[in-house]
Amino acid sequence: MVVKSFTFNPLQENTYILHDETKSCVIVDPGCYEKDEKETLAAYIAANSLQVKALLNTHCHIDHVLGNSFVKEKYKVALHIHQREEAVLRAAKVIAPHYGIYHYEENEADDFIDENGTIAVGNQVLSILFVPGHSPGHVAFYHAESKTLIAGDVLFYNSIGRTDLPGGNYDTLIESIHQKLFTLPDDVTVYPGHGPETTIGFEKQTNPFCALPLNK
Ligand SMILES: [Zn+2]
Ligand SMILES: [Zn+2]
Repeated sequence: MVVKSFTFNPLQENTYILHDETKSCVIVDPGCYEKDEKETLAAYIAANSLQVKALLNTHCHIDHVLGNSFVKEKYKVALHIHQREEAVLRAAKVIAPHYGIYHYEENEADDFIDENGTIAVGNQVLSILFVPGHSPGHVAFYHAESKTLIAGDVLFYNSIGRTDLPGGNYDTLIESIHQKLFTLPDDVTVYPGHGPETTIGFEKQTNPFCALPLNK
């Protein structure tokens, strides 16, 4: 599995393309906003002769959904989100101007992600981890064979996602990290929604927000 990352938009969000040797790919959290960002994403897809099969959102905060309309229209693919992110996606339009974003193109989900299901990328399979707390229907995508985790805004390099936005909850987030992420192998690479990559083992040892064990 190849993981290609881009950092887009004023909120410096990480957009990911996952593909395998079949040239099938999925796009996760396209944050491309400016014309040149959309061109950068499309150029990679064209240069690698990739076939876009699906559009996935880990969650629907504005910085992660800015390029949804572009991807849906250009590649004629369905947008998959967790059902509990529907209200978050709808709110993006209202929230965008508060971040200085005046050209957000609204979009709707086509399909809901089954948190017990899987998503195919060519011959590879991603499993879904339901990891609420930063947002109510946040999911992460895990490829066990390559030990790759597309984590969205749950766990960052020595930090965690904020929990002060609507539907956020600190205890829920810490529980998600301990129960769903820290139970993965230590050498899993975490590709977060912001900032550099890290590993599960490194964060278990050094992340100041996750040092204390769960008290329940
Ligand atoms: Zn977020
Ligand atoms: Zn974000």
